[in-house]
Amino acid sequence: MDLFTTPASLRTQCRQWREQGQSIALVPTMGFLHDGHMSLIDHARACADKLVVSVFVNPTQFGPNEDLDRYPRDLPRDLALAEAHGADAVFAPEAGAMYQPDHATWVEVPEMAKGLCGASRPVHFRGVCTVVLKLLNLVQPKVAVFGQKDWQQLAILRRMARDLDLDAELMGMPIFREPDGLAMSSRNVYLTPDERSRVPAIRQGLLLAQRRVAAGERDAEALALMFREHLADTLPDARVDYASFAHPESLAPVARIDAPTLLAVAVFIGKVRLIDNILLEV
Ligand code: AMP
Repeated sequence: MDLFTTPASLRTQCRQWREQGQSIALVPTMGFLHDGHMSLIDHARACADKLVVSVFVNPTQFGPNEDLDRYPRDLPRDLALAEAHGADAVFAPEAGAMYQPDHATWVEVPEMAKGLCGASRPVHFRGVCTVVLKLLNLVQPKVAVFGQKDWQQLAILRRMARDLDLDAELMGMPIFREPDGLAMSSRNVYLTPDERSRVPAIRQGLLLAQRRVAAGERDAEALALMFREHLADTLPDARVDYASFAHPESLAPVARIDAPTLLAVAVFIGKVRLIDNILLEV
């Protein structure tokens, strides 16, 4: 497995592979890899001849008061994991290698980025779209694999890929969870042991909503209130950033659950912001 730290060297290697007729799969990550990432990597490994994993804590997707500086990092461990799971290359550039000091070009899907996580993270999806398009341009993969944990991100990237005629197929993998239901996240390491023991309440709240829908509840506002009340009971120190219902592809707000609907939530426990979601079927 090779480590690339400059866009030019990665591009040269990927071009060579493609000229040899080898297809490439790409898994973009911010590193500190966990089993959720590994499920993407294992899936991608089976999709193409060559596998590239990127490990880049992309500064442009963090707002000024977010956790860019304290985002967990462990490149040696990430390299060992990527290699053990069959990666041919890891791309781990410094921020300065990805963005020129006078970087001035941004990719945005503003309509889909204003709700859900975008409401409290206004520059986030612009940063995500821009860095993912850069990665897709460098690697020119046949497939790129993402997690449904970041459902809004995947929906926005798919719209970007469609609107800009990108060649790569964007695949979405199910949310990988701890045995107690907590969605795996690099940010889970910020939780204190006490918080960690109680945060599965988020997943329970989503499942409760699913049961209410199965029992006939259709009103999104009532379901959101139920989710908030569940968290207030089980995780009283949590602050719900949002609990919102949206069309799974367009992300348009949904008031009545008459068709498959995304319930997406973000919850602060102390300074830690956790996200999760569920697709409600009727
Ligand atoms: P991140 O390193 O958090 O930017 O995540 C990189 C990719 O892994 C994204 O496509 C995420 O959606 C995906 N991912 C993160 N956590 C999980 C998880 N628990 N299950 C499935 N995919 C995940």
